Amino acid sequence: AFNFSAGPAALPEPVLRQAQEELLEWRGTGASVMELSHRGGEFMEVAARAEADLRSLLTVPDEYRVLFLAGGATTQQALIPLNFAAPGQAADYVVTGHWGRLAVQQAEATVAVNLAADTGPERYVDVPPVAQWRLSEDAAYLHYTDNETIHGVEFEGVPDAGDVPLVADFSSSIASRPLDFSRLAMVYAGAQKNLGPSGIAVAVIRPDLLERTGQPRAPILDYREHARAGSMLNTPATFNWYLAGLVFRWMLDEGGVEEFARRNAEKAALLYAAIDGSGGFYRNDVAPRVRSRMNVPFHLHDRGLDPLFLREATEAGLIGLKGHRALGGMRASIYNAMPVEGVRALAGFMDDFRKRHG
Ligand code: PLP
Repeated sequence: AFNFSAGPAALPEPVLRQAQEELLEWRGTGASVMELSHRGGEFMEVAARAEADLRSLLTVPDEYRVLFLAGGATTQQALIPLNFAAPGQAADYVVTGHWGRLAVQQAEATVAVNLAADTGPERYVDVPPVAQWRLSEDAAYLHYTDNETIHGVEFEGVPDAGDVPLVADFSSSIASRPLDFSRLAMVYAGAQKNLGPSGIAVAVIRPDLLERTGQPRAPILDYREHARAGSMLNTPATFNWYLAGLVFRWMLDEGGVEEFARRNAEKAALLYAAIDGSGGFYRNDVAPRVRSRMNVPFHLHDRGLDPLFLREATEAGLIGLKGHRALGGMRASIYNAMPVEGVRALAGFMDDFRKRHG
């Protein structure tokens, strides 16, 4: 089957096969990789290799710290203001969908949130130009969501918002295209879309942010402490870290982010062509300039056909297409692990369904 789930999402088949082969015993140790001490030499090697591969995949500058953390992307949204904003300081938030809105909710208790832009009143179908953002004078940082997983809205590139440090949620778009770190102070992502199974998150942080005092917090909520301890302040999600490492290696072997950017552009073009060429049978409301290359929400012109569409798609081996409850309709998530053939099969099915029910 081709799995279009938004996350946890499909993993590359070679990764699952390798994990299966290696599950019972890790290289003559008599233990599974998930049974090894995180501080022992064998696991330290797995961890270091994963970090090195992620750095090379994303071309992370040497001085940036790469952290592997628990708590998903949501916990990072709560930690960002605690670590990087002084008490009472303001931070700018650009909200272009559901996840940006939730990032604000996580931050509100510990930072004076300034909504620099919020497209909620226009139903999250566009990214307003930077010139229209209402930036604060002295914000601790500016937070935005590179790709809105539910609304299917993706930034065209890193926005040019002046000197304010940019902190970006890349949960559903990391490693899908090259990233320009020269303009980013922090990038974070829950792993469960492009990087591996759920249960681990990745944060890439510029060192000057780590030097900030922030607000009173326990050591476990302190990014500096995690950096100092090599992401092993407490027991990390070792098995997930290992699996993410396999995904990094797979992406490098496949040609790296440039190759995935090419494939993702091809997949997205196929799918949007199937929608736009359907004479109104299918509809996607997002401004074409900022349509997501990762998550493609769409509606059938007649909602009554939704259950039949989903049933027939499942029978055709196209699973995970039900839209998020906030939007209804359908959503096809076409992350790195989704092959072009999968999207071709979906576009073909959509065409056929339209001809039979249009
Ligand atoms: N940000 C984005 C863009 C997401 O898509 C998600 C989850 O789907 C989250 C944040 C929340 O991530 P987590 O469940 O890892 O906390």
